[in-house]
This record gives sequence, structure tokens and C-alpha cells, in this order.
Amino acid sequence: MAVDLLIRGGMVVLPEVCCEMDVAIDDGRIMALGASTGMPEARRTLDARGLYVLPGAVDPHVHLDWPSLGVITADDFASGTMAAAFGGTTTIIDFTYPEKDGVLLEKLANRRHQAHGKAVIDYAFHCYLTDGSPRTLEEMASVVGEGLTSFKLYMGYSQRKIMVDDVTLLTVMKRAASLGATVCVHAENGMVAEAARTRFIGTGQVATVDFPRFKPNYVEAEAVSRAIFWSRQTGARLCILHLSSAEGLDLVRAAQQQGLHVFAETCPQYLLLTDEVYRRPDGHRCICSPPIRSEADRQSLWQGIAEGVISMIATDHCAFDSRVKDLGRDDFTRVPNGLPGVETRLSLLFSEGVGKGRINIDQLARIASLNPALIYGLFPRKGILAPGSDADIVLFDPAKRQTLSAGALHSASGWCPYEGWDLQGAPVMTISRGEVIVERGEYIGDPGRGRFVQRVTADYGMVAAWRPTPSAR
Ligand code: MN
Ligand code: MN
Repeated sequence: MAVDLLIRGGMVVLPEVCCEMDVAIDDGRIMALGASTGMPEARRTLDARGLYVLPGAVDPHVHLDWPSLGVITADDFASGTMAAAFGGTTTIIDFTYPEKDGVLLEKLANRRHQAHGKAVIDYAFHCYLTDGSPRTLEEMASVVGEGLTSFKLYMGYSQRKIMVDDVTLLTVMKRAASLGATVCVHAENGMVAEAARTRFIGTGQVATVDFPRFKPNYVEAEAVSRAIFWSRQTGARLCILHLSSAEGLDLVRAAQQQGLHVFAETCPQYLLLTDEVYRRPDGHRCICSPPIRSEADRQSLWQGIAEGVISMIATDHCAFDSRVKDLGRDDFTRVPNGLPGVETRLSLLFSEGVGKGRINIDQLARIASLNPALIYGLFPRKGILAPGSDADIVLFDPAKRQTLSAGALHSASGWCPYEGWDLQGAPVMTISRGEVIVERGEYIGDPGRGRFVQRVTADYGMVAAWRPTPSAR
């Protein structure tokens, strides 16, 4: 019997090695990997010689159809997942809305409704929590049962009333630990940041260059420290989202050395840009939280990736229209926070990471695909090229050059933080559950073909196992 698809002769990227082999795909899943002599006949064969065959990228932190400051992101589930697909991402994890009231399962139903029939790749959600009331604690079990095995808390944003206090952190973490779920935090000390923000506004320091100054590194580090403290007390698995500072990284490293289940994610903007960006004429568009930091922080984060302390690179894609961003050109309080990035992550990490010798190709697959799948309970369905896994695959041409430009990208936001950057390497084909959906620069899949993915409570051992040993550093 012929299988659906055979990918021949590519450099297949597995967790520990990268070697030339064939991949057989049938009925949406990977059927076999190995030498071409043992492979079955296929209805379609792709010649992947000279290309990397990577597991489809998993972006564990995106915001589509997302409101802020009274506006909604330019990207909904259609344009956002289309951009993701072009960039080689085959699964995203978005969030339920953090509004204070309401039934958690209804909030999930609303988000699933927004994504259904629009998303072109598979999607999952983290569940926002804004309180630790008895009802919320009760509902958390049902949420896990629906396949949302991670809860997100804001330690910042006191002015928007979505910040959680320590009682809530403690209560929710206890409950998450008993459910085997993960707690994700936006780690910024909301009270300290808000006081500074008020002071800055009062003294008229609201220019773009003032933005990173009101949230110095300690705003993040204190919150990271506190979240780790409660994680230690409760045994809850903790993930620090969008880690941006050297001080925060040091705290995560120390926690991991003590054997705590503390993980960290960072984003391309913290690895590739510095606070110099806020001096650019379009710098106000790069306003995001936490702010983009110093060259020294940037270097530390790359070191954290090399050491395996940072497990994941997400994008925090939160793409507002350039015209909306431009309304706050002279006043950072009027700029909705967030950058587009869901399409450019893999290309940037390949060109700036692998191409510049900071990481190797299997590390790229780990931080962009395997580890997010492991940590958030998508594994082994997603995140790995293995028999039985979903055939989510990206063919990546290391020889192809590309110049990033908003006009050529697929986000509806109309701008790109890396406009004009010349990159070495580009994704050339995206396969989702065995279907070729992007080929020769065209989307050829059905509209709205993406599916909601239920996640499981995860086994984190494999992430720790793949941390480089001290001697290897
Ligand atoms: Mn955040
Ligand atoms: Mn975010």
C-alpha cells in the first residue's frame, strides 16, 4: 500500500542529531523515518535534498483577536495563523481573555468560537486567571479536563485590575500543583511599575525613550523571584514568560539548579534588539512589556539558551496596526503593547542563531518546537519527528536568502520590527497533519482547517534531560 507522502533525502532534525533520511507520512501522521531503502511507495514524493526537515514549530505564546487600550489586534485567527504557517509554525498556543468576571469554560468557548473556521494551523489555549476564589479553584479542574493544562497570571498591570496578589498566586499555585498543571506568569512587579508610571506621567516623561526606563530590570527580577518562591512552597510547575533581563535569568538558573520545575521562555525581540530601538523613528512601535533591554541583557539571554536555562523561544505575537501604534508616537501610554513576530521567529533564529554559531540546528528544533510541546503537554503529538506523531513538518532551505519586509509578510499589522534585515535561510514548505499547506510562497490548504488541540499534563523530565551538562558548557 502506498503512503500519502514521502520526504526524501532531507537533513532530518531529531532531538539529539541531524542526519539524512526519509520521512514517510500517512493519514496525517509520521509513519516511518529511516534510510530510503526501507521506505514504502508514496502517492507524492518530495525531494528535500539540501533542506532541513524540522518538526513544525510550536509558538507557545501568541495573542490573536486580542484587545488592548480599546483596540483589537490587526491579526485575528485567520491572518495570524496564516502568517504562522508561512513562517513554519504549525501549532500556536493563545490565551482565553483575562476579563475579571465570568465562567472559565464559557471564556474558553468564546475563544474557540473565534478560532474555529478561521485558524489554518492547530491551536491551543492557556487559561487566564485573575483570582483564586473558591469558584475559580473549582473550575480549574474542568479547564484541565478541557485540555488547557496551563494557567496564566499577570503579576503586573495593576492599573488594568488584572494583576494578581500574592494570596492569589499562592492559592492558584497550590491548586495547579494538585492538578498537575503549569502556572505561567507575566513577571513584572505591578505596584512598583505602576508607581513609576504615574510618576513619569506626572513629570511629562512619556516619550518613547522613557518607556524602558520606568520598568527597570528589577521590576522583572523581583516578580521572577516571588513567583519562584511560591513555586518552591507549593511544588507548582512554573513558567516565566518573555524573560528579558539578566537578573531574571540568574534567578531561573538558581531555581533549576535546586531542582525546581521552573522554566523560562524568551522572545526574538529580547535576543535580537536592544533598547536602542526606542531611539528609532519608528521606535514607539516596538513598545512591549517587558521592554526591550540592554546589550548586556541580550547577551545573557543567548547564554541562557546555550546553557539550556531558557527552554523556549516564543513570539508574544500581539500585532497592532502600524497606524494604531503611530497614534502614540509621542506618548507611550497611548501605544498598545506588543510586536508582530509569529511569522519571522524560525527564520530569525536560524539566521541569527544557527547561522552565527550561537546554537546548532537541533537546539533550534528544541527551543522552537520540542520544549514548548513537552512543557505544555502537546508532546508527543507535536514537537517531534517520530512515528505516530502528527506530520507537522517544515522544510527549511539554509541556502535561501530573504529580506524581511512587512509587505512580504502575512500579518495584517502592516509593519515588521526587523524591516530590511537580510537573513540567511528560509522556510520553503509547511506541512500540517500531513497536508502541504504552504508551498512556493502560496497557501494551498483549505481555509480554516486548523483544529483545537487538547493538551495533557506534561512530563517535564525530558526537558531537564536535554539541558547540557555543566562540563559541556
Ligand atoms: Mn505578558
Ligand atoms: Mn503576552
